[in-house]
Amino acid sequence: MTDEGTRPDQQDDELISCDICMKTIPRSASKSVEVDDYVAHFCGLDCYQSWLDKDDEEADADSPG
Ligand SMILES: [Zn+2]
Repeated sequence: MTDEGTRPDQQDDELISCDICMKTIPRSASKSVEVDDYVAHFCGLDCYQSWLDKDDEEADADSPG
């Protein structure tokens, strides 16, 4: 794909990917949540809720090599 050259104002039209379903959505229509040094993006509240739920299983990678 050659998409270099004709790029409109990429301020509110920037495309991002949902953190849950990986769907491509415009940043202006996404829900973003800042976590520590990381910003998560979601296509809607549904995915946002899913992300909140999965946040319970984070510390599970502690197996010695
Ligand atoms: Zn999503």
